[in-house]
Formats: sequence, C-alpha cells, structure tokens
Amino acid sequence: MIEFRQVTKRYDSDHTALRQVNFGLERGELAFLTGHSGAGKSTLLKLIMVMERPSAGEVIVGGQVLNTLPRRQVPYIRRHIGVVFQNHQLLFDRTVFDNVAMPLEVMGTPARDIGRRVRAALDKVGLLSKEKMNPMQLSGGEQQRVGIARALILEPKLIICDEPVSALDVSVQAQVINLLKNLQRDMGLSLIFIAHDLSVVKHISDRVMVLYLGNVAENAPRAELFANPRHPYTQALMAAVPIPDPERERAKPPAELEGDLPSPMNPPSGCVFRTRCPLATDYCSREVPVLEDKTGAGHWVACHYVERQES
Ligand code: ADP
Repeated sequence: MIEFRQVTKRYDSDHTALRQVNFGLERGELAFLTGHSGAGKSTLLKLIMVMERPSAGEVIVGGQVLNTLPRRQVPYIRRHIGVVFQNHQLLFDRTVFDNVAMPLEVMGTPARDIGRRVRAALDKVGLLSKEKMNPMQLSGGEQQRVGIARALILEPKLIICDEPVSALDVSVQAQVINLLKNLQRDMGLSLIFIAHDLSVVKHISDRVMVLYLGNVAENAPRAELFANPRHPYTQALMAAVPIPDPERERAKPPAELEGDLPSPMNPPSGCVFRTRCPLATDYCSREVPVLEDKTGAGHWVACHYVERQES
C-alpha cells in the first residue's frame, strides 16, 4: 500500500528533515508514527500526500512511484487518502451535514447521492441525529468525529490521522481512538496515526515507528515494541508513559532524557541520538547505525549496541 525506500527529504542544503527512511504499510494495517516535535512526522505525511517530493529514495503509494508523478495526477492520489487533523478545520457557519458534504460537492457529486452518502458517514461516527446542528454546538470529541466523517466521505483506502486526539481531554481521547480503530477494521482501511505521545496507541496499532531527528530509531510490531523496546530513545519514551498501577509507576526509572534536542540544522555526526544516549561511545560519533532487523521477525532498530536476538 505504502512503501518508503531509503527516503531522504532535504528542505535546503543543510537541513535534512528525513534521512534514508524505510517504511512499509500493508493494506488494512494500522501504523503508529511517533517522535518529538521536529522529528519528521509531518514531512512523512506531506510526502505521501505529494505536498513535497523526496530528495532521494522512492515513495510508493498504491503501486505508484510518487517521485516523478505528473502534477495533474496528484489529485487522483489525494482522492484515495483521508486526513484527520488535530484541529479538525470545520466551518462554523455551516451545518454538520454541509461540513461532511464538502468534499463531495468539490467532486461534483449529484445532490441525490450526497444526502445518502453524508448520512451513511455520519451514522458510522454516531452523529446522524446531529446533522442539522452547527459544529459550534458540539463537544470537542463530537467535532473531531465530524472531521472523521468528512475524511471518510470519499471512501479512501488510507486515512492519515495527524495528532487527532492531542487537543482532546484524556477521557474523550479513548472514544475517538476506539472509533478510528473500529472504522479501520470494519472498512478494511490502512491507517497512519501520528502522535508525539506513545500512551495513546498502547492498544491500537499493528506497527509502531519511532523517529528521532528525521531518522528511524525503531520500527516494530506494537506488542513486541511495548514488551521489548530496544532503542534507548524508545526506552525513554516508554518510561514517560504512565503506568496505571501506582506502585509500579513509582518504581519506574526517571523518564527525562539527558541534554537538549540538537538543532536539526546541525545534527550530531554518526548516530544522531548519541548526545543523549546512555550507551554512546566514540564509535557512535563516527558511524551512522544502520536500521537492522534485530530479530529476523520485523523488529528494526538503528543502534550499534542493540544485540541481535532471534525470536
Ligand atoms: P514533526 O511533524 O515531527 O514535528 P516536521 O516534519 O514538521 O516534524 O519537521 C521536520 C524538520 O523539517 C524540522 O526541523 C522542521 O523545522 C523542518 N521543516 C519542516 N517543513 C519545512 C519547510 N517547509 N521548510 C524548511 N524546513 C522545514
């Protein structure tokens, strides 16, 4: 469905937003993408949406290499991708129905089909009874569900959710996440869920990819990553995820990483994580670690000091 082959994106000569990223997403799979602000998450999204083109490597979506895709074919690719943003970008001078109908109107869909399709989408997100309301009258979680209905309306094959629950109360986050997960399963969608907070995906994704300064630090099946995080950066992120059991929570090692995030304009030589890494040696300043499947079963880690461990 989606494949990144050694993808590098440079915005200017000395600013590399993504470096040699390899990543694959099968049809019907749900991938979670995490990392600090500036790690390259949005850049990855923009490459899939053909809002940016790679500087090197190949981005392949639905069998199409996007690097050289003619501009006139870009809308065709985007037509199959629904996007849910943190800020759902609803229009408050239009009804819920009209907000969901907008992409259909842009496509010139006949009016009789619009009514049927909008109601079906609102039904999927549990908001059929609110079609005539103004989004302003809805709660934050309901507004986000309107955004999800709109992302589904063109029956995309892929949904990209960019920090979809970051602006919501914790109690509402779980509802929206469960809704997305159920839709993804029931409709057989591929879904990329982007968030800086690992705790929100603990129960949903198939695969988790952790980015640090534009580099993939680790990419593994979710259960495997949570049970056995291997990269020191992932381990630090995990330590920051609260554990519901107060006794185990208190016994956790401190989550704070040493030092500041280096400037992306002037990243460390060798391994980009080495300035904050408890395992780093001189060797790490000289050699870039290769992303390697450390288990032979799809647990990829970029670290010189993580041993292979056959599963
Ligand atoms: P994230 O989504 O993980 O916060 P981004 O992909 O937005 O990260 O950014 C990755 C890096 O690329 C950052 O250092 C950011 O400043 C830089 N960047 C993003 N967009 C542009 C742009 N249009 N021009 C120059 N630099 C950019």
